[in-house]
Amino acid sequence: MEIHTFEVGNKPYENLILNLPSDSKTEKSDLSPILIAAHYDAVPGTPGADDNATGVAVLLEFARIFATEPIKYPIRLVAFDQEESGLLGSADYVTKLRREKMMSLEMLG
Ligand SMILES: [Zn+2]
Repeated sequence: MEIHTFEVGNKPYENLILNLPSDSKTEKSDLSPILIAAHYDAVPGTPGADDNATGVAVLLEFARIFATEPIKYPIRLVAFDQEESGLLGSADYVTKLRREKMMSLEMLG
């Protein structure tokens, strides 16, 4: 697991990143990863059960599935911090990205 640290107002925050390999039977090894993300911070003053523990739960399930059953593409799972403060975690992280595809999980029922 990688930790992407960023600062907001001189206070450090962390995005948590898990890279899972593609299916080793796939010939192409230069495929860009599919990025799937969910934020783990909650709206201030709320327990965060829907927003966004639901997204984190699905992210953890994706980790279990893709770790045991890899697909054609590598998978990058990212848990962002400080999204309810104005998408700060993802904005900082995305500045580092160039070619990856991204799917964000938010408030799932
Ligand atoms: Zn949210």
